[in-house]
Formats: sequence, C-alpha cells, structure tokens
Amino acid sequence: MNTFKSDVIELLELEYGKTIQQANTVELYHAITKAAMKPVKAKWDVPAAGKKACYFSAEFLTGRLIYSNLMNLGLLNTLSELFNENNIDIRALEEVEDAALGNGGLGRLAACFLDSAATKGIPLNGYGIRYHYGLFKQYFENGFQKETADDWLRFGDPWSLRREDEKVTVQFKNQTVYAVPYDMPVIGYGAQMVNTLRLWQAEPINAFNFRLFNDQKFELAVRERNEAEAISSVLYPNDSTAKGKKLRLKQQYFFTSASLQDMIRSYKKKYGNNFSHFPDEYAVQLNDTHPVVSVPEFIRLLVTNERVSFPKALKLARQTFAYTNHTIMAEALEKWDVNLFRSVIPNVYRYVVMIDRALVKELVSLGVPEEQQEQYRIIAENKQIHMARLAVFATHSVNGVAKIHTEILKNSTLKEWYALYPERFNNKTNGITQRRWLALSNRELSGFITEKIGSAWLTDLSKLKNLEKYKDDAEVIRQFAEIKQIKKRQLAEYIEKQEGIKLNPDFVFDVQVKRMHEYKRQLLNAFSILDIYYGIKEGRIPDFHPTVFLFGGKAAPGYLRAKGIIKFINEIAGKINNDPAINEKMKVVFVSNYNVSYAEKIMPAADISEQISTAGTEASGTGNMKLMLNGAVTLGTYDGANIEIVQQAGEENNYIFGARVEELGKMEESYDPKKIYQREERVRRVVDSLVNGELDDGGTNLFKELYDSLLMGASWHKPDVYFLLYDFLPYCDAKLQAIQDYADRFGFTRKCFLNTANAGVFSSDRTIQEYAAEIWNV
Ligand SMILES: *Cc1c(COP(=O)(O)O)cnc(C)c1O
Repeated sequence: MNTFKSDVIELLELEYGKTIQQANTVELYHAITKAAMKPVKAKWDVPAAGKKACYFSAEFLTGRLIYSNLMNLGLLNTLSELFNENNIDIRALEEVEDAALGNGGLGRLAACFLDSAATKGIPLNGYGIRYHYGLFKQYFENGFQKETADDWLRFGDPWSLRREDEKVTVQFKNQTVYAVPYDMPVIGYGAQMVNTLRLWQAEPINAFNFRLFNDQKFELAVRERNEAEAISSVLYPNDSTAKGKKLRLKQQYFFTSASLQDMIRSYKKKYGNNFSHFPDEYAVQLNDTHPVVSVPEFIRLLVTNERVSFPKALKLARQTFAYTNHTIMAEALEKWDVNLFRSVIPNVYRYVVMIDRALVKELVSLGVPEEQQEQYRIIAENKQIHMARLAVFATHSVNGVAKIHTEILKNSTLKEWYALYPERFNNKTNGITQRRWLALSNRELSGFITEKIGSAWLTDLSKLKNLEKYKDDAEVIRQFAEIKQIKKRQLAEYIEKQEGIKLNPDFVFDVQVKRMHEYKRQLLNAFSILDIYYGIKEGRIPDFHPTVFLFGGKAAPGYLRAKGIIKFINEIAGKINNDPAINEKMKVVFVSNYNVSYAEKIMPAADISEQISTAGTEASGTGNMKLMLNGAVTLGTYDGANIEIVQQAGEENNYIFGARVEELGKMEESYDPKKIYQREERVRRVVDSLVNGELDDGGTNLFKELYDSLLMGASWHKPDVYFLLYDFLPYCDAKLQAIQDYADRFGFTRKCFLNTANAGVFSSDRTIQEYAAEIWNV
C-alpha cells in the first residue's frame, strides 16, 4: 500500500487505538497531518542559501490548511482514495476551523504570497503573531450581526511546530515577555520547496515556581501570565482604525522585535559582528504600516546591542526594508500618540526621534525650505508619530497594490514624498494563488481547463490565454456553462444547510462578498435591489431574469454604520424572500460568517461579481480577481484592480459604470446629494425606506443614522462622502443590463469564459516574482 495511506492508518492505531472507520474527525485530522508532515520535514530543514526575504505582517489569513497542503504535496488524491475506500466523505474535514488570523484582503494577500513564493522557489518567510483567537465568528440574530470568539485552536494545531529553543525576549517599559515561535511549513506546489511561516506567541518569563508558592506570589504569577498572554490573544477585528491602541502597539512591537532578533541571531552565526552584509542576507517587506515600528527597532538593536553607529544603522535599515501601502483611507494611515508610544516602548521612541532628526537634515540638504518641512515630519507638531512617513523615509521602496492606487499615492496621498524620492515608488498589482482559488476550490473547472490546455497553468497562470481560441466554440462554451451550473448547485446545497434558505441554481447569482465598509458600498447594492423590487412590482422592469443577490462579510464590532447596513440588507431579504408575488424572481441572502472557506465555495458559483467601491477608494481588491478567475463578469467601478481586470478581459465583457476618480475629485466641494434626492424619485424612494417605517431596525436608530449620513453628514464628514446617490442610477442601469444579458446564455457565458481566459496576470505568482526581482533582489 501507498506509504501515506499506511502511515495514516498506522498513526490512528498507534495514537488512538482506532481503525480509520472508528476515528473521529479530530483524530483523522491529526493523523493525516502527522503523516503529511513526514515528507515535509526532510525538505523543511534545508536552510535556503543566499538572500532571504521576510514578510512582516500583522495578518495571515491562511484559511483551512489541510486540503491545500495535501494538494501541494500531491497527497490530496491519495487521501480521497483512502476515504473512498472506507466510505468517509472527504468533506468531513470541513469541520476543521479556518486559521482566520487576518481581517480580509491584506491578510489573505499575505497567505497567497507565501504559497506563490514557495511554489516559485523564492525563499520568503512570513513573520507574524500567533493569535489565540482569530477574527470573530459572525452570526445573525433578528438580522443583526452578533459576534463570538474564534477558538481556532479547538482541534489543536498539528501543522505548527513549537520551537522552544528559539524563543527570544521582548521588553516593554514595564513588562518583559517571551516570544515563542510556532513554525508552520509553507509547502510549495509540487513540494519543491518548503518555506516557513513563523508566528510568535507571547508567554510570561517566570513560570509558576512552586518553591515560592504562597497566595501573594500566586496572584503575581497569574497576573504576569495574563498580561503576557494578552499580547497575542486576539486579532483586532478592525482593518482600518486603531482601537485598543496600546495593546495594538504592543502587538506590533512584539512580533517585529522578535522577528528582527531572530534574523540578527542567524545573521551573526554567519557573519559575526560585521553588519555590512545584512541587506545582502535579508530583505524585509512591511505589509502596511502595522510592522513599521520594526524600522526604529532594527536601528536600536544594531546601535545598542551591536555597536553599529546610528548613521550606518539607518543606512542598513533603508537598504533592508521596503514598504507596501494598502490604503489611502486617511483613518488607516496609522499614527501613534507620542505619549502612548513612550509609555510602551521609550527605548524605541529615542530612535524615532533620531530618525526624525536625520529626516530634517536630509530635507535641508535636499533644499526643502523650513516652512515646508512640517508636512514630512515623522513626529508632527501635534505629537503624533506618522508611521507611513517613517516608512517612506527609512526604506528604499514604497509600493502601491494596483496601478491606479500607486498613481494616487504619487499624485495625492504621498505626493510630497514622491517629489523627493521618485525612484522609490513602484507598483505591484496584487494577485491571488490559482492553486487555492481555482485548483482546490473549483476542481470541475480546473479539470476542464487542464483537459483543454494542459496543466501548466497551475504554476504559470498566463497559460490561460490559450483558452481564448475556444471562445467561439459552442460546445466548449456549453461545457463551461455546465460547470458553472454544477458549482451553483453545490453552493445552493451548502447555503440551504448553513443558512436554511433554498436557492434555485437557474437564477443569476449576483455576488458581493467582502468586509463591510461604507466605501465598498454594500448599501448601494442594497438600494439597487430595492429599486429592482419596486420596478418589477410596478411593471417598470418586465422580463426580469430571476436573480439571487448574495452578500457575505463581517462588520467590525464597533462599526455601527456597517452593522446597520447588515441589518438593512437582512430586512430587505426578509421582505423579498417572504413576498410570494416576487419570490420567483428575486432572492436575497446574507450568508453568515464569510471567511476563506466560504469564499472557496462562493467564488466558483458567481455569475456577476459586484465590485462597486467609490472610484479611488479600493486600493486593489483581490476578491474581484478570484471571481474573474472562476468566470464571473465584473459589475464595477473604475477602481483598484477592476481597471486592470477590464483592460485584460475587455470592457465589452464586463459592466463598468459610475464616476471616475477625476470626476469625483473635481466635484468634492460642489456635490450636493440632496439635489439628486429631490430630483430623482427612484433615489428618494429607496433612501426613504430607511426612515419611513417600511423596513425596521428594531428601534436601534441605525437606519436613521444611515439616512443622515447620506443627506446630512455628521460632525466629521460631509453628506454621502462615498457618492452613493451620484452613482445610483448608472449602477442600476449597468446591473439590469448584466442581468438581462444573462438570458443570452451563449453570449453571457462567452463573456465569463473570456474573463477566465484573461485572468493570467492576476496570479500572485506574477506579483511575488515582481517583488523578488524589483524590490528584494532575491
Ligand atoms: C479575498 C478575500 C477578501 C478580500 O476581498 P475584497 O473583495 O478584495 O475586499 C476578504 N475576505 C476573504 C475571506 C477573502 O478570501
């Protein structure tokens, strides 16, 4: 028998005294993982020669690892066989929790990058935090979002290896803790290479010491343990603003200091105390501003522990670090209050001051007049430390994540910096791994593609272009449509099980799945659904092709407007789904607890991909790429990577609408949503549904608050900052057009097919190779 199969069976016998049929899911999970780890370990222990890249990220949204790791090891089919032989459903392992150590796109990007690097033979190790609780779990009660803790370690963590011998200490002002590394193997496709995701766990220095056991000592020990463990206990369920500020800063310092100590320790084994070669040994990519505190920490470690001079250390930092910007939302460009920063890490603060001084010196030497210097200052007059400024100044590379986003950085968000260091700015359009987002999640489509063009696309997605020759082949297009139908049936089955709502797979599946945020405009989508509902009832929209409107996404627990939007959508769903007159035409579902595993089921089943953020607000998006790859048309704005998507797949194969960045920029001051509201009856009708009693927010006032945000504004913003009313009618037109076009099954499927065929550049393999060649030089 195959060794993997016999290993699994043997392990079950040895560890649990059970046969494969007797074993429960947890036991199967552990035995399978342990058996799979055997071939991994041999590859894993080989240290990479030459320069290594390190990806510092507060988030790694890896999702469930077992299927993807087995696939990359070439063992997934073997496991399927083994399960089949024993009448076990391979879906049993779906009970295993996702590793949801991230909020959304930024964390998922980090996970896709690791997969791509290991597959492409690029030595890239991830560094982050081993949160005890990942992103909260979401469920609905009366249509309101409720949250529970995500106890992802419930079944154990067999993919991780605790490396007790490599722990380091991290010091805060009034606290010292251990950072203990847990290493996960990052297995490249075909298992050519195994990189490492090293996640640090915070633990107390003083273990319980039984010699000193008395009540008082016990209390102290408990307190120390709790305070230490707090640092790595929860992922902040917020991808923009920094709440729980102090603990968040501690988390950022904790994992970056530990990672740097780890790298410096390895470096010294090779080069001793000569640090000149550090940038030849390591490149560090900072995933947004969360890990930027590592720059002054790196300098501090070299100056105080290694006797490197400050100017030399700053120079090494600049050569080593590179920064990725992920957003232009002002509230997400992190700033730390000086007093808070000093109360947590005063020793690091000193180096921030020195870097700020070096900045002023450089500004003077570059001829920036004094009155213009304040806009650059890392420590601003108002006693705030600007992490993005620190990142731009003290690194050699600043990149945006889609072409339009990088242009906005250069021309607007960071324009004064671009004027100083134009050579530092570059673009790296995001990508996704086709192994997870096609091979694993859509085995039907991937089998079909391989049958048509061979399997090279698995490691070279540009090969998809070879599908294009079939675009007018009616039989191929028919098969493509049939696969979509299968995926829609599977999703419908799953949703019925999970949400208790029955869906008809003959409906159009219109999908918006992503974190809840005003700029992503789920509320605009909701309004359009109401408008269609009224339109059908009034007869304004005859011949409407039946459509399911599917939502998924979590709102940060403190983000009341986002929670109000969820409730609003659920109210609309209730109204429409319970209206027998309309039931045969429309269904609305907000799926609960959208996460990576849910996404893997939704992406392959979508016909229409809703990417409707206000132009200029979504840095890139990656959900748009997953949907494109699986053959959905994009209904979207000229924003983020949508622009590149339609450049690749053709505007005629997608549905682009709405104001562009330039238009919105010109309008800033003059925009008056009230005028549109008064002029357009359809706009008025949907907006009024927030307040006229038609839909009920259970007395929370959340709907009135949304209404006001559109028409009155608030102390901190003008009305309708995200231009929902401005884009409303063009959006409805584009949406109705897409749904109407669906009726032409060949024509519509051909569009879908061409999206898949042109998705090649959106592989994270391409992105990571650009980082390696153009930023890291590895
Ligand atoms: C891809 C992904 C995202 C990012 O989606 P966007 O539409 O780009 O915001 C968020 N969450 C999960 C679970 C994902 O898989």
